[in-house]
Amino acid sequence: MPHASPLITILVIGLTLAFLLGMVATRLGISVLVGYLLAGVMVGPFTPGFVADQGLAPQLADVGVILLMFGVGLHFSVKDLLAVRAVALPGSIAQVALSTGAGMGLGLLMGWGVPTALIFGLSLGVASTVVLMRALEEQRLMETERGRLAIGWLVIQDVITVLALVMLPALMPLMKNGATHAPALLDLAWTLGLTLGKVAAFVGLMLLVGRRVIPAALHYVARTGSRELFRLALLAVALGVAFVASGFFGVSFALGAFVAGMVLSESALSQHAAEETLPLRDAFAVLFFISIGMLFDPSVLLRHPGILLAALAVVCVITPMIVFAILCLLGERRQTALTMAAGLAQIGEFSFILTTLGADLGLVDSSTRSLILAVSILSILMNPLAFLIVGLLTPWAERRDTARAGTTAPDAAAHAAGPLRNHAVVVGYGRVGALVAEGLLRRHWPLLVIETGDSAISAVRAQGGEAILGNAADPAILAEANIAVARLLVVAIPEAFEAGQVVEQARTANPKITIIARAHFDSAVDHLRQLGADVVIMGEREIAHAMLDYALHDMKTQSPPAPPPTGTFRR
Ligand code: AMP
Repeated sequence: MPHASPLITILVIGLTLAFLLGMVATRLGISVLVGYLLAGVMVGPFTPGFVADQGLAPQLADVGVILLMFGVGLHFSVKDLLAVRAVALPGSIAQVALSTGAGMGLGLLMGWGVPTALIFGLSLGVASTVVLMRALEEQRLMETERGRLAIGWLVIQDVITVLALVMLPALMPLMKNGATHAPALLDLAWTLGLTLGKVAAFVGLMLLVGRRVIPAALHYVARTGSRELFRLALLAVALGVAFVASGFFGVSFALGAFVAGMVLSESALSQHAAEETLPLRDAFAVLFFISIGMLFDPSVLLRHPGILLAALAVVCVITPMIVFAILCLLGERRQTALTMAAGLAQIGEFSFILTTLGADLGLVDSSTRSLILAVSILSILMNPLAFLIVGLLTPWAERRDTARAGTTAPDAAAHAAGPLRNHAVVVGYGRVGALVAEGLLRRHWPLLVIETGDSAISAVRAQGGEAILGNAADPAILAEANIAVARLLVVAIPEAFEAGQVVEQARTANPKITIIARAHFDSAVDHLRQLGADVVIMGEREIAHAMLDYALHDMKTQSPPAPPPTGTFRR
């Protein structure tokens, strides 16, 4: 392709291949991430055929990381972060230390020096934010207690990585010489203090100044009425803050963007803002996975199979066990501990950054880098399997949690629906579903709610209803709701594609059930009816009817409006 620029080529070929392979992966029932990574391997330099620009891919991936973390921050308030600090702070530090120790031990066994083994260990100890966020999103756990803990955990890991990045160069002379002479130690303390000071200065500045200035600026832009300008303003904030954070404060892009999002999450605009950045964010997140896939040299699998397997065991077996043990010790529920263990059983971008630093310091050779990459790719590929295992262990974890707590805690009992029959199932407990559910409960209908957010789950339970945490489009969740013997299904979620999935599956499982669905467009009404809904209520039409009723009533009770001046059009 002689005329196309490297940027266009990588976007067109990379995204198209990722789409095709992602589609195949979904059809085969595996995570789409596998498809994206394979697309990267195919456009990488180690496989025949087209090779995408290797300098460009990681830069695009950085944009993906920034937008992704900005989106995560938007759903995360300072309050959420403070709420999980008691577990996330000690837990994350202990986990990184222990996983690093395990990886370092492996490096020492290989006969490497302490500095190389340390970098190797650290690379195996820090998980990929992007991978974990995608997994949480896929499992619809982002808005749950577990999701918030995972985010808090990652924020701490991110700070640890930033510290490691600046500390390692200062630490190396000490480790090499084995010396503990005062000037070197002083140097080290100074570097540590400076780094922590910069991180604190950035966070402080954002919380004190950014918290006021950024939402105010966005409100100002929103008032212009231009959606285009608003979208641009959001992008400028996300990218700009991340850039300043890394350029002036030595904070990672990811942490910078996360804090920018978090600052915005407290303003009323945040939800709106999240939606505006969503399409771009998804496209760039795909580029992140492509860029990782590109770095993979499959021959490493044959060259060092032993150490590769051992390193993979550190990431996929030892780290999850460490996470599980730490969380149980800290008094968390087994269910939470299991999900966290699965989520952290992978490594990604932080590990690459650490190994790049190792290479710059002359401590890590290219074959060790390839090895870490291989561990990363394999652990990302295997991550859906970890969640599958968690799914299998969930009933056990719930039994343990229930036995321990004496009662069923909201998250722990999330899947514990009783043997309901002839009941009503309400999908979604938001503005619409909550009113329907409350109305049914008041009339003493046996009721079960399916919701993706855990705060709604406790609200339903408080009113005496049953609730399942999860995505109703998942057939396993519908089966848990005993849909086959239910009498009524109310699909009260706004998204037509997902609602269609729920309706179709429920109709197949229970041909006699009455299905009432919610829609916002005429095309969605047709879609839902075709898939088996008995009644579809179009929100906007009901609003219009209600408005018209009020208007007509008002006109009846008041004197008729003054006749229009002569000469104007009359109906
Ligand atoms: P609202 O638009 O305010 O009625 O809110 C819709 C509610 O439905 C929110 O609380 C969502 O968390 C929930 N929701 C959306 N999609 C699903 C789904 N696929 N399964 C279960 N709950 C959902």
